[in-house]
Amino acid sequence: MTNHTQWKALSESVVLRHQAYINGAFQPAVSGETFPCINPATEKLLVDVASCDEADVNLAVDSALQAYRSGVWSELAPKQRKQILLKLADLLEQHKDEFALLDTLDMGKSISEMTAIDIPDSIDCIRWTAECIDKLYGEIAPTGNDTLALISHEPVGVVAAITPWNYPLMMATWKLAPALAAGNSVILKPSEKSPLSALRLAELATQAGIPDGVFNVLPGFGHTAGKALGLHHDVNVLAFTGSTRVAGMLMEYAGQSNLKRVWLEAGGKSPNLIFEDCDDVKKAAATAAAAIFSNQGEVCIACSRIYVQKSIKAEFTAALVEAASHYQPSDPLDPATNMGPMVDGAQLETVARFIRSAKEEGGEVLLGGVPEYVEGQGFYAKPTIVSEAHNGMTFVQEEIFGPVLAVCEFDTEEEAIALANDSKYGLGASVWTANLSRAHRVSRKIHSGMVWVNTWGEGDSTVPFGGVKASGNGRDKSLHAMEKYTELKNVWIRL
Ligand code: NAD
Repeated sequence: MTNHTQWKALSESVVLRHQAYINGAFQPAVSGETFPCINPATEKLLVDVASCDEADVNLAVDSALQAYRSGVWSELAPKQRKQILLKLADLLEQHKDEFALLDTLDMGKSISEMTAIDIPDSIDCIRWTAECIDKLYGEIAPTGNDTLALISHEPVGVVAAITPWNYPLMMATWKLAPALAAGNSVILKPSEKSPLSALRLAELATQAGIPDGVFNVLPGFGHTAGKALGLHHDVNVLAFTGSTRVAGMLMEYAGQSNLKRVWLEAGGKSPNLIFEDCDDVKKAAATAAAAIFSNQGEVCIACSRIYVQKSIKAEFTAALVEAASHYQPSDPLDPATNMGPMVDGAQLETVARFIRSAKEEGGEVLLGGVPEYVEGQGFYAKPTIVSEAHNGMTFVQEEIFGPVLAVCEFDTEEEAIALANDSKYGLGASVWTANLSRAHRVSRKIHSGMVWVNTWGEGDSTVPFGGVKASGNGRDKSLHAMEKYTELKNVWIRL
């Protein structure tokens, strides 16, 4: 196993791609502009990255559209597309340490999370989706004897994927694997806070045999490159993961341009319901801590709202504080680290602001507190638990996207369900009970795309991922993801 010293040495030799990837080659932004990519653990410059805008978007969309129309990928036999995507997964596996380093340096996630979660999940997503391509059949509708109606799935054309910084490689693969598998051309715009792994992946895609123009990567800001993709008339699908605020803007761009389909994976404020009949309070507490403090709380499905039944509140809270004290923010290149820095100074300030507001609104800080920032030492925030919280408090309603946990209480099952559902979001939820009927009853009544019973955060390529309400629409992963990137076509034949 690679140790801290070895990861640090490797991080010094890793090559950082920094130009846009269009039509199978790296190139600077048309404007020549760049933006700085900063390591949040050291606040040092990693590299200046091409800052793409509308001019680069036009080039990338032209190239993607030409490639699509040429049929070089879109009309390839599914079996051939499968082989190329499998090769891409193999190449990613061969370079797994390099990709782990790229995201850790770029956004501060611990190297141990990268190697245990992000890398294997990304490889599996590409491999699993590739394996599906030549196993999907069309349909013949039961119309009657004198006609034949064929129903088939066709690629949509040009897909723009706009992704966030919290799982840079993983979020990119969740979009591009099914979009490419279906035969589309893809333009990926990674977050300006974490563009490095996407740029390297583009290079590997070419090496795997994905034809030029089929997979392009445009680093740049949301209001420039992202907006230009959203408004472009030749982009047919926008696949987005990010905040609810930006998700709404993408819907507007679609309305202002060509009614492109918009698939949204947006914010969350997931509840965690701990019932008194939960058979392992310590386990529930340890999982609750992991559900908010892993990846520094920069997790869309983070269970940031605990609702614990009054009768076990004291026992549960003591176990929670104990479990949380094992999360210590430190150098993300150390494999022993379980929490890295926040992605940047703005995110650290957001965390500080919400902790201040929680205190002002009557919350009792049981652990952590407002971060003590030291200039030049990284954007570290401690795990923070605030008790005596309730749904009327701002920090219980708003997504913080940091290591801040609200502990609220309830008396009855009905009350717990009502409190959990009293949120604009509906991404995930966790329920702890040994009562099978209650587990099913509560899971049915919770308004969210995903519910975990006596666990949290389980996921697999075979299972869809996504939310309801302001958490979005559509689903990543599983065969359901393919629906986002294909059109239904029917052909009638009179016999
Ligand atoms: P964000 O919305 O700020 O940015 C996401 C992406 O959108 C970035 O690439 C950004 O450049 C781009 N963007 C910003 N403004 C834009 C505009 N005007 N037009 C087009 N594109 C624009 O989100 P973030 O801070 O990068 O990520 C955190 C958010 O992502 C959180 O809300 C989190 O819950 C959410 N998230 C959701 C899921 C999910 O599956 N539901 C997964 C991960 C993260």
